[in-house]
Amino acid sequence: MLASIQEAATTGPTEAALAPHPDRKCIIDTHELRKVYQMGEMEVHALRGVSIQIYEGEMVAIVGPSGSGKSTLMAILGILDVPSAGKYMLDGIEIQQMHEDDLALIRNDRIGFVFQKFNLLSRSTVLDNVILPMIYRGLSKNDRIDRAKQVLEMVGLGDRIHHKPTELSGGQQQRVAIARALANDPALVLADEPTGNLDTKTGEQIMELFHKLNKEQGITIVIVTHDPEVAAQADRIISLRDGLIEADQTTIQHKFPEGDEGDIDEIANEDIPENAVLTVEKGPTDADKTE
Ligand code: ADP
Ligand code: MG
Repeated sequence: MLASIQEAATTGPTEAALAPHPDRKCIIDTHELRKVYQMGEMEVHALRGVSIQIYEGEMVAIVGPSGSGKSTLMAILGILDVPSAGKYMLDGIEIQQMHEDDLALIRNDRIGFVFQKFNLLSRSTVLDNVILPMIYRGLSKNDRIDRAKQVLEMVGLGDRIHHKPTELSGGQQQRVAIARALANDPALVLADEPTGNLDTKTGEQIMELFHKLNKEQGITIVIVTHDPEVAAQADRIISLRDGLIEADQTTIQHKFPEGDEGDIDEIANEDIPENAVLTVEKGPTDADKTE
């Protein structure tokens, strides 16, 4: 359990956060993305020049107040919407150069989506929900079923494959959605407020699952959240405000050893980069064990 979020230096992106990873592939590379919505006479500038690079294997949280452009950015990154201006390279592909039909294929092939409201087909079984995105791939029916079972195992639902989503808890439904997102072995998983409809404990379990997928399978994950505790579990936090990046910070987790209540002053002198967000976890106590 994260005890507190101690410090968030709200400086702009610094060199540390933006340092290129020469050994890592750039999965998301945007240059000055803009999005303007026309509302009758009025123009809404949802994104006003967003440039970000996200590398293979990163787990990134996007935070910001309501209306700051988080969902707009995710829709563009997920090729569900097009920017009004700017450039987007996804996994080395220049998106604005592609034909509409190819974009649908790229989206299906390279991106897995997880939404706040799960967006599952309620009349289909868990297995069929996960098989669906694989239909467009040249896999045999048996291979599709095998792969669906494999990803459902990964999210801990191997024993629920013949259930309907309505027979599952919210947390389980979100696990199905995550399995579906993983079905085509995407380069990138995008999750927009994936814990927004879940209670705190279930939300934590879903975050643990994302963590596991990121650390063990190296899946690149971008999660939108307005919950600082959720964000603190990412490696990096990008803050949006009024359609612009306000901060781009690395997170540092400090775990105190067993039985240590955690004195924040003890770590204040440690080498923590200026732009880092520090999260502190108390050492497990005897009371925790008997809970
Ligand atoms: P967030 O997800 O951070 O809450 P959004 O990306 O949904 O923010 O919205 C950013 C801004 O764009 C808001 O002012 C919102 O009202 C506006 N907006 C979003 N979608 C549309 C749309 N389809 N038409 C008009 N305005 C929109
Ligand atoms: Mg939103």
